[in-house]
Amino acid sequence: MSARGGGIHFPLGEPGSWRRGAPALPPTAKRTIDPQRLARPLDALPGIGAVRAAKLAGLGLRTVADLLEYTPFRHEAPARLASVASLQEGEEATLRVIVQSFVVRAARRRHLKVLEALVRDDTGSVPAVWYNQAYLADAFASHPELLIRGKLRRQRGGYTFLVTSQELVHEGGPEAGLHTVGLIPVYPATADVSVRLIRTLLGAARSEAAHIIDPLPADLVAARRYPSRREAIVSSHFPRGLDEAAACRERLAFEELLLLQLALLRYRRRQESEQLAEPLPREGELARAFLGRLPFAPTGAQLRCMGEIAADLAKPHPMRRLLQGDVGTGKTVVATYTLVRAVEAGGQGAVMVPTEVLADQHAARLGAQLANLGVPVLLLKGSRPARERRAVMERLAQDEPLVVVGTHALIQEGVDFHRLRAVVIDEQHRFGVRQRSALFTPTQGAPWPHTLHMTATPIPRTLGLTLYGDLDVSVIDESPPGRRPVRTRIFYRHDRPAMWEFVRQKLDEGRQAYVVCPLVEESESLQAASAVATYEDLRRGELGGHRLGLIHGQMTSERKRAAMTAFEAGELQALVTTTVIEVGVDVANATLMVIEDAGRFGLSQLHQLRGRVARGAERGYCLVGANGADEEDEEAPARLRLFESTTNGFELAEADLRMRGEGQVFGERQSGWGDLKVARLLRDQRLLVEARDTARRVLEDDPELAESRHALLADAADEHFGALAHWLDHA
Ligand code: ADP
Ligand code: MG
Repeated sequence: MSARGGGIHFPLGEPGSWRRGAPALPPTAKRTIDPQRLARPLDALPGIGAVRAAKLAGLGLRTVADLLEYTPFRHEAPARLASVASLQEGEEATLRVIVQSFVVRAARRRHLKVLEALVRDDTGSVPAVWYNQAYLADAFASHPELLIRGKLRRQRGGYTFLVTSQELVHEGGPEAGLHTVGLIPVYPATADVSVRLIRTLLGAARSEAAHIIDPLPADLVAARRYPSRREAIVSSHFPRGLDEAAACRERLAFEELLLLQLALLRYRRRQESEQLAEPLPREGELARAFLGRLPFAPTGAQLRCMGEIAADLAKPHPMRRLLQGDVGTGKTVVATYTLVRAVEAGGQGAVMVPTEVLADQHAARLGAQLANLGVPVLLLKGSRPARERRAVMERLAQDEPLVVVGTHALIQEGVDFHRLRAVVIDEQHRFGVRQRSALFTPTQGAPWPHTLHMTATPIPRTLGLTLYGDLDVSVIDESPPGRRPVRTRIFYRHDRPAMWEFVRQKLDEGRQAYVVCPLVEESESLQAASAVATYEDLRRGELGGHRLGLIHGQMTSERKRAAMTAFEAGELQALVTTTVIEVGVDVANATLMVIEDAGRFGLSQLHQLRGRVARGAERGYCLVGANGADEEDEEAPARLRLFESTTNGFELAEADLRMRGEGQVFGERQSGWGDLKVARLLRDQRLLVEARDTARRVLEDDPELAESRHALLADAADEHFGALAHWLDHA
């Protein structure tokens, strides 16, 4: 068998053209397009009965449209359509052959059955071999003609063709080539529903695509040089080349993102027209005094963000802004500025934080900062005695400009503000959506407060457009001057003594340390026990001669606060803690972060923890205790090495996204929209920006999508993301 078989004969015509048979899409003029057909349940299709339909439902496939939209995650590269004479050793190839004879025998080793057949085409014959596919032999008698895909290999002195997939060629059969010729689509499958079955069903359902109508306006499709939706659906399964597959996927992803952006932007517009706020047009005396008395000059990024907020506050609609900034970039100043603006206008400001420790700390800091401006700062926490809480609530209900800091106790029944004008939600990702949106809805007719959401979870800016597409976004992308990046180092078991030696040395130099104890998922009380055990071990061992404190979630808030205060005052040298200190806590002299059993933490959590020691001019150190190879989570070592290698929050966020998947990282926010079927937030960032721009332009021309050229677009947006508005409102 030589490479030059000469005059290769394709009994089926040109590769690629015959495979799909006559034009995949019957000329539509001769057929009635009936989109309703796509809404039919899957058992309406030939070959699908109740049992198969139930199995397909397990993959989320219920209607004909679901099946057509079930895009493959990749395509197997095409194998050359070859003749027997032109086969080359080792090359992946597809043959069209007739079975001349066959035999099933037991393999010598393993418990395999081997099917061997002598197959031929016009150019010659070759023995073909299948492992564990003996049942095929039954079909050979009635259907001797086959398409086989595989590789020629040399064995025991002769050549055999090792078959990896095959199909029987029926006269005029609809799916000839589906599994063996050209680009083979590969789908997410289950034990119940094989890839092969999905491929077969799609091969059969392909003609239904004729009933798809395109929701995108024709001028947009033309401007972006996209195929029609119908073509994109069909070719995303059965493309003529990888380029075509990519182009079709892009078009479907763009459409999906456009619909999402339309839904988000329309939601915003509606809110803007319905919700009124008290405009705070001009910076007053108090804000100027606040800025003038800061112990440092704000960074350019802080100033820009304050400017963006000031512009929002001047409007008669409530600000809804997300302030993003890595840990330590100084979000608090920007937030405080917002609160001061409300107070100087005679209103009230509220700060909601996720933990009591943080509430205490914010209240103390704001109290100190605002006291000399004459602004009262109150604290409202669920753990305070009822009498005390009532006293705070009474003041909120009176006409008194003030700032209140609290946990979600702030949004509990019975908390009425007299004149709430600004709300800051710190570390907003830590709140449930429900808690966030139940926030501060004014009584009928009263103005809405301006709201600033803050997050230190770095999200690539473009992703923010989707995850927080209903919010405006400001980014503090600059650290205060003089910050030195934290040094991070992993310590495996054998070099633990060296780690503690380093800690002792730094403590003796006057620095302070956090020691975060191993994370226990099961329960708060186990977590607390783990903290107590770590504390006891250290007290008797490595840190025996030093002043140690302990803080965990099961302690009373009195004791938590006492420990925190002692640490801030420098009375404690090291604080053994659970992740209650993960967010927001700020002690400038604490430059050591020891994380025990760090493999149990996620990247963003580790990054938050490290941020605690990146605050002062002193160099911070993050000492990562790892178990190495016997880590429970296989990915842990890779995750920790990545963490050690960079302090860039955005890089870590992207890596986290890649490792854990979008659903895990953004689960709650994302699940509220209905799923993205084709688009992937990380991969499709460029498309996302373009979709956002397009959505904005479309709505500028036609805010209600009332024009007939947008009718289908409006329907599609409602169908796919109609629940979004409701979810953003209530969830
Ligand atoms: P985060 O963004 O993590 O909430 P903070 O607002 O707590 O950060 O600020 C971190 C530390 O940086 C604080 O000690 C704060 O006083 C200080 N800081 C903030 N802005 C500046 C600045 N422009 N120059 C110097 N230090 C600053
Ligand atoms: Mg903060």
